[in-house]
Amino acid sequence: MSRLVVISNRVAVPKARGAAGAQGGLAGALNAALKKNGGTWFGWSGQEIDEFTGNINMQRHDGVTTATIDLEQQDVDEYYNGYANSTLWPLFHYRIDLTEYEREFGRGYERVNQRFADSVAPLIEPSDMVWVHDYHLIPLGERLRAHGLKNRIGFFLHIPWPPTRLFVSLPYHERLVRTMLAYDLLGFQTTEWLESFLHYCRKELGAQVDEQTGTIDFEGRTVIARAYPIGIDFDHLSAEAATEEAKQAEQRILVSTRDRTAMLGVDRLDYTKGLPERIDGIGRFFDQYPDRVRDLVYIQIAPPSREDVESYQNIRALLEQKTGQINGARSEVDLVPIRYVNKGHSLAELCGFYRGCKIGLVTPLRDGMNLVAKEYVAAQDPADPGVLILSRFAGAAQQLEDAVLVNPHSPDDLSHAIKSALDMPLAERKARWGKLIVSVMDENVQAWTENFCRDLASQ
Ligand code: UDP
Repeated sequence: MSRLVVISNRVAVPKARGAAGAQGGLAGALNAALKKNGGTWFGWSGQEIDEFTGNINMQRHDGVTTATIDLEQQDVDEYYNGYANSTLWPLFHYRIDLTEYEREFGRGYERVNQRFADSVAPLIEPSDMVWVHDYHLIPLGERLRAHGLKNRIGFFLHIPWPPTRLFVSLPYHERLVRTMLAYDLLGFQTTEWLESFLHYCRKELGAQVDEQTGTIDFEGRTVIARAYPIGIDFDHLSAEAATEEAKQAEQRILVSTRDRTAMLGVDRLDYTKGLPERIDGIGRFFDQYPDRVRDLVYIQIAPPSREDVESYQNIRALLEQKTGQINGARSEVDLVPIRYVNKGHSLAELCGFYRGCKIGLVTPLRDGMNLVAKEYVAAQDPADPGVLILSRFAGAAQQLEDAVLVNPHSPDDLSHAIKSALDMPLAERKARWGKLIVSVMDENVQAWTENFCRDLASQ
């Protein structure tokens, strides 16, 4: 069996305690695949140094080798905060209004991708299978080919791929996509993002595209592009949900909300998550049904994210303002309608919160997948499951069709969905959840890893 080399912006070092299953989610699944194939995980250490050296820090934990490099501050500014998070992230989430097109960002991005390629290429054996992750490293495959690598190299994009009409606003868009055709296998979260990508290849590059098989023929190369919807680590989540920590977290919700229904949102503080729009929807609900203010409490967990980027500072200020307005207008001495928690929590605690809250509100304006929606479903009590309200613009909506699907831009739609979730009879909650849980259990992160690696191996 081929060795696997995983390359991503950051590397999740397996927990030193090394207990099986100690690490969940994507990191856990990739580590499991690496362990099975005896592989290496390469990426940025997260550390900044004065001058780039290319020195590789190799460590071995629990059968997996991690190899990391440090970057210069200028790299982090231009590649990570710049091109990745201020250009590609907003553009790929359809936020052309927030997209910054700085020439230095593009240069920094290319420089760091070259640094990644130069550092990792000597670690790759001819028979290794290479799996590159996400928008930070789109051109990496091409840079590795320039080092003479003939290996099977795959790429998975964890975020959406935008429609051609938006994507062409990116200077050098064609150059970026041409680099992607150096991979053997391209993975997208949903068929919608895949279709946008294939459309671009056909229309802008004039490539021969077979939509049925996802085969792209271009300038003598054949590349396969497919959708591989990522899932959660269901077994790991179930184990976390059974811990004392999770039970205590659920109690904290139940005791503090008593006879009111708790509704929960869990999102990184990111403008793609639709947080101000969500608060507007909740405000609309309170306006339309003022006598129900005593029935509902909304709990928003929103850990800060990418705080060096200005658009993230702005979204935080806007959210605080909107939350404050509603709480100011609707609070009583014994009642605060919105609890806004500006810090992160462990998965075990989240499981307790998910279970204690009878409505899960997941309303991104655009999201590659959204794992919180799947975690919410997985953590429910089968005898009394909560209702998932889900944005139709989250990748997860393609699989979770039995959620209450909403347009996150519409306060009326959100208000209506909250009302129907609050009043939904147990039989309907069970019927919806019964269908949702099947997909969440079956289409898990282990299946996702296996499917991608199997297809890459057969290229
Ligand atoms: N998460 C967490 N603690 C928190 C908030 C979120 O561990 O306080 C985790 C959450 O359990 C989920 C992930 O962060 O697994 C968020 O993934 P998602 O796909 O929903 O959104 P992303 O942040 O990747 O855009």
